[in-house]
Amino acid sequence: MTDRYAVLGHPIGHSKSPLIHSLFAQATAQDMGYTAIETPLDGFADTVTGFRAGGGRGLNVSLPFKLQAFEIATHPSERARLAGAANCLKFEGERILADNFDGVGLVNDLQRNLGCLLKDKRVLLLGAGGATRGALLPIASEQPALLAVANRTADKAHALGRDFAAHAMLQTSGYAELAGHAFDVVINATSTGLTHEPLPLPAGLFAPGALAYDMVYGKGLTAFLQQAQAAGVTRVADGVGMLVEQAAEAFLWWRGVRPDTRPVVDRLTVPLV
Ligand code: NAP
Repeated sequence: MTDRYAVLGHPIGHSKSPLIHSLFAQATAQDMGYTAIETPLDGFADTVTGFRAGGGRGLNVSLPFKLQAFEIATHPSERARLAGAANCLKFEGERILADNFDGVGLVNDLQRNLGCLLKDKRVLLLGAGGATRGALLPIASEQPALLAVANRTADKAHALGRDFAAHAMLQTSGYAELAGHAFDVVINATSTGLTHEPLPLPAGLFAPGALAYDMVYGKGLTAFLQQAQAAGVTRVADGVGMLVEQAAEAFLWWRGVRPDTRPVVDRLTVPLV
């Protein structure tokens, strides 16, 4: 029987996950189906229960349900626990396993696809929401020279610093305190990629040869990437590779097979112009 998987979100019509997983399944000859399920805002748990009852094997979870996905799990991974959020569930008998692959997807994209090794680099994350939470542990485990988080609401960045204190030494601040500091990798994990609002970035933020990375995807040159280019940065990327790499981690977790991500990244890439 064909194994069933799906992505839950609200809204979910825009999701690339069904295409990505069907391309992975074709390439690895896996007998599986994958659909997008529009999930009512007050109906996450019921939708999960119904999907499991119908024989579903696993789910990806998109906004705004990543916190609830963590809470519904009986066996969350350590990184899901630290992020307080999960983007992937696997059903094994009575057990609901949860993991969070956003951060490892980001690190794999940076290191494998973009050739940007994080070890000994000065890395800055802009934003202190769920995407940053998920990224911190995977980035920290690559041993950057410095890992900093700056957020509009500085207190949220400081709270992250406390939450992760046992795992990573974070430099946390608002934007103004970034003045005088330069970074090799600057990652926009705010939602301004969707709204085209510029960030208050001080001059000199990008070290020579820096990479500017916006987690949003399919939006072309975002305001942040334009700001980076105006500051002289020539290496810019969006989050399409992160999306595909987190999907590959989920696929491996569910199916035990690692798909080749390159053709899928190429297929989904929107030129940065
Ligand atoms: P979130 O939890 O809602 O966090 C939003 C963050 O953006 C907060 O830190 C917020 O700051 C900041 N922000 C919003 N508007 C701002 C503005 N005008 N100026 C400065 N900061 C602003 O969102 P998220 O889940 O972390 O997602 C962040 C981004 O990552 C989204 O664009 C999402 O699409 C992307 N993402 C991509 C992937 C992928 O696979 N490529 C995966 C996950 C997420 P305050 O705390 O001050 O409000």
